[in-house]
Amino acid sequence: MPLMHPHPDVDHVLLTEQQIHDRLDELGAQIAADYADQPPILVGVLKGAVMVMADLARRIDLKVEMDWMAVSSYGSGTKSSGVVRILKDLGTDISGRDVLIVEDIIDSGLTLKWLLSNLRSRGPRSVEVCTLLRKPEAARVEIDVRYVGFEIPPEFVIGYGLDYAEAYRNLPYVGVLKRSVYEG
Ligand code: 5GP
Ligand code: MG
Ligand code: MG
Repeated sequence: MPLMHPHPDVDHVLLTEQQIHDRLDELGAQIAADYADQPPILVGVLKGAVMVMADLARRIDLKVEMDWMAVSSYGSGTKSSGVVRILKDLGTDISGRDVLIVEDIIDSGLTLKWLLSNLRSRGPRSVEVCTLLRKPEAARVEIDVRYVGFEIPPEFVIGYGLDYAEAYRNLPYVGVLKRSVYEG
């Protein structure tokens, strides 16, 4: 059910909980069909992808495994630089495995580009990407993203795992943050 009273720091709701779940139903079914003969290991990127991972994985009717990575990309507050550091690595050897990276959002795509080359260097059989959200700027980086939930406008969004200063991750919907919150 769409939330009628969004958080006061939310300018407007971009995607309701229902819209997100409906789209994840479709993606989960598509992934289950694509990987029927080769159940993937889902690699969630902490912390933003926690909600997507939890809701998507329960919609993939296959014997999947789940693992997590945490990375930090350096840059000025709102832009990533492509210089990435691993804060938490996988606990799984992915050589010969089919890996599906689960992401919350792709903005510049620089973090993901780095992650793809890092994971590919470990000798997996395949690496594909599923992201809930993608912003227009991502189109400028050459990354083949197989599963995209929603293309969204270039606005700063929060909720459903996405934070501003570590807050708002627990909102069940995706909303645009009010400018007044970060412009003081
Ligand atoms: P990229 O390297 O693609 O520019 O950065 C991706 C990361 O930047 C995401 O995983 C997320 O942490 C952060 N990010 C990019 N756009 C947004 C946004 O609109 N809202 C939030 N909360 N984080 C974002
Ligand atoms: Mg992310
Ligand atoms: Mg963040």
